[in-house]
Amino acid sequence: MTAFTIHAELVPTNFYTRWHCHCCGGTTEKVGVLCEVPKSHPTHAGFRVCEKCLKAGDVQQQMLDHADELEQRAKYLRDTASRLQVPTYAEWQYADRVADAVQVLYHTTDFEVPTNEVLAWPREQQLEIIARAEAVLVREAAEREAASRLVSGDSDDIPF
Ligand SMILES: [Zn+2]
Repeated sequence: MTAFTIHAELVPTNFYTRWHCHCCGGTTEKVGVLCEVPKSHPTHAGFRVCEKCLKAGDVQQQMLDHADELEQRAKYLRDTASRLQVPTYAEWQYADRVADAVQVLYHTTDFEVPTNEVLAWPREQQLEIIARAEAVLVREAAEREAASRLVSGDSDDIPF
């Protein structure tokens, strides 16, 4: 079966970033010219081919290799989906709070217990770490506020 040919064109851009390559699944470098199917195309608008795929010289093979890789990844995901057990979002959220608290204490006090150890501690001790970190942040915010009042000269004593 023969399908209609799809034409990709060289399109200048002044937005220098790494764009996704639909051909290989990688990205472009931060280049000034992209290879894309025009936005007006009814079914493949914006389909992009990176300069590395163009350099490789066989875009069709790049796409077929990428499609094989995606099928392997899809098979892996399907195989894993029914067997993978994960913590709840709430559990992650709590652990992230603990990790943030450890970082605050590490950078502001002499606290040097690694995060993975603290995450294994009993909850009461973790809550204490969170409370200590929050106290540090509150104190620092108050100190910044006081310092900015000194710099700007604001004072309740001066009525203007
Ligand atoms: Zn590519």
